[in-house]
Amino acid sequence: MTVVRSFCRICIANCGILAEVEHGPDGDRVVKISGDPDHPISQGYVCPKGRALADAHHSPHRLTSSLVRREGTLMTTPAHDAISAAAEALAATAAQHGVQSVGFFMGSGAFIDPAGVYAFARLKAGLGTPQIYSTASVDSVAKTYVSAVMAGSTALVPHPDELGTLMLLVGSNPLVSHGQSTGFANPVQRIRDAVARGEVYVIDPRFTETARLAGNHVPARPGTDHAVLGFLVRDVLEGGYGLDAATLAATTVNLTALRAAVAPFDLHTTSELTGVTDEQLTALAASVRRAGRLAVITGTGASMSPVGNFLEWFAWALMIVTGSFDTPGGMWFNPGYRTRIDRRERLPRVRLDQPGPTAHPDILRLNGEWPASVIPEEIESGRLQALVIFGANAITCLPDTPRVTAALQALPTLVVLEVDRTETAELATHVIACHDQLERPDVLPLDMFANRVYDQYTPAVVHAHPGRVASWRALEQMGAALGLHVFGTGIDPATMDADAVLDLTTRDPEVLRALRAADGPVLTDDAHYNWVQSRLPDGVWDLAPAALVEQLRTYQPCTSMLLTPRRQLRHQNSQRYRDGDDSTAWLHPTDAAALSIHDGQLVELSSAVGTLSARVRVTDANMVGTVSVPHGWAHTNVNQLISADDLDQFTGMPQMSGTPVTLKVLEPS
Ligand code: SF4
Repeated sequence: MTVVRSFCRICIANCGILAEVEHGPDGDRVVKISGDPDHPISQGYVCPKGRALADAHHSPHRLTSSLVRREGTLMTTPAHDAISAAAEALAATAAQHGVQSVGFFMGSGAFIDPAGVYAFARLKAGLGTPQIYSTASVDSVAKTYVSAVMAGSTALVPHPDELGTLMLLVGSNPLVSHGQSTGFANPVQRIRDAVARGEVYVIDPRFTETARLAGNHVPARPGTDHAVLGFLVRDVLEGGYGLDAATLAATTVNLTALRAAVAPFDLHTTSELTGVTDEQLTALAASVRRAGRLAVITGTGASMSPVGNFLEWFAWALMIVTGSFDTPGGMWFNPGYRTRIDRRERLPRVRLDQPGPTAHPDILRLNGEWPASVIPEEIESGRLQALVIFGANAITCLPDTPRVTAALQALPTLVVLEVDRTETAELATHVIACHDQLERPDVLPLDMFANRVYDQYTPAVVHAHPGRVASWRALEQMGAALGLHVFGTGIDPATMDADAVLDLTTRDPEVLRALRAADGPVLTDDAHYNWVQSRLPDGVWDLAPAALVEQLRTYQPCTSMLLTPRRQLRHQNSQRYRDGDDSTAWLHPTDAAALSIHDGQLVELSSAVGTLSARVRVTDANMVGTVSVPHGWAHTNVNQLISADDLDQFTGMPQMSGTPVTLKVLEPS
């Protein structure tokens, strides 16, 4: 038995783990995963998903060989042959229809594999196709867009000061889901510490686990959360509680336009719109005044809604006008241990002039990507003939499931690089079985998303299953078949191992050498302040970008029954790590009584585009007027209710939250 010090890569909290491994004649067996008590960030914490890593690694759902479809059936195929066949099909497509007919789609299973991401990026760039997609366009692109238009750069990831006295969590439930863009390891202790230091508010239509612990719950109707923040910005500006006029004039533009944009959000109007009482709003505003500086953390519950852009805008505006950004007591920006973006004179300026998808030219190509929701349309039109999907379960993450399914089935070439036999893999022409996280060495996948400036190297915890291949190796071989040197012309890929690829991702071999020698996390500063303002591409924050002002002016909130998502403790997106979660539709007792629906009854939810059946759980944790269904389930697939045509005008993000629905009883009680 050996104990390997590593870290979990299921989510961006990246908790330190100790993996106990037995070595036998039939290979390595992971017998236990526990929290690493010496890890300075997670401090021994590990959630149920992390503890289940051993079961997931040995799960029968895990792929143990690559597959190629022959005469309609996926057949077990040696990895090398499957990769060659996939590469041949991609090359034939590019030759016949042009490179623009080959697409690449990356998901959360890929984001956690730095060497694979590096090879994928090089392959995509080398081929030169515009058909580049990722799941970031489904759940978090509002953050990217707002950073682009307010800061001029998308390289900024804010994190709360661990010593701050006021934290607002909007549509974020870190006790269950440990961070969308800021890692939230050891969440119970962190929330308790934050409450002991000051105040924590949770703005959410559901009375979540985090709201219970925080003690301050502000239940706002879905699609109106931005109004609560707009009210707070208005209060700060009217009361003069934030930065003085001279500082605002020197560090921002469009203050007058911001004042005008938040002017409608007075106490009465905001209360009417959001359902939050006057007393709750007044108490919240008083807390902001008292604290002076604050941290606002937004989660998918709100950022996936039709007001995702406004929410991020007002969150950033609130922190800018209170002087909370880049300052102790507020939020700091992680420059990344490896990335060290603070060593540049200026942050990279984002390009907002690149053409969008053919059918939606006004949607922006952000960070070189089109929104993934247009993939079915691109396939239906014949523009997309071959797609390489890396670590994304398109069937459970893209809107309009029947349309996605039909489109993927019609695709002549669908190459899926995966660790599990997912619903999307079942539709593929080629499936490449890849190493899972316990089988590969890694560094921190997204160093700027960590809530400390640190990095960590982990060796592979177990020897890899002989039927699986490293994702970077598969992608490099596909590139070679397409005539590309994925790792550069001077490098012989045959001589490379995973560490050599990680070296390329760090750009400096000394960095990886130091991380490997450390046997655990290597930290620099606790936080890193006062470096952003002077590096903004234009030197100022734009408090009211014209595009957002106009979008807000025409926004009409919806007053019917609204769908809201919920994260679950044993799921990470579509991956289930343990039993115990269910896909029930949560309904408030008042709504249940009005609709004559009883606990446990089967109902049909209908939206403008589809229907879904689910059993109801009647609970007062849900706000009146909302029905909550979790994302990521294949049989209760909430994406059946989501439109692939109703996309945000700038980002192309679908409305995964705040969708109008009706309910109908399917069986008598
Ligand atoms: S919170 Fe859970 S899933 Fe996320 S890194 Fe930690 S153990 Fe893994």
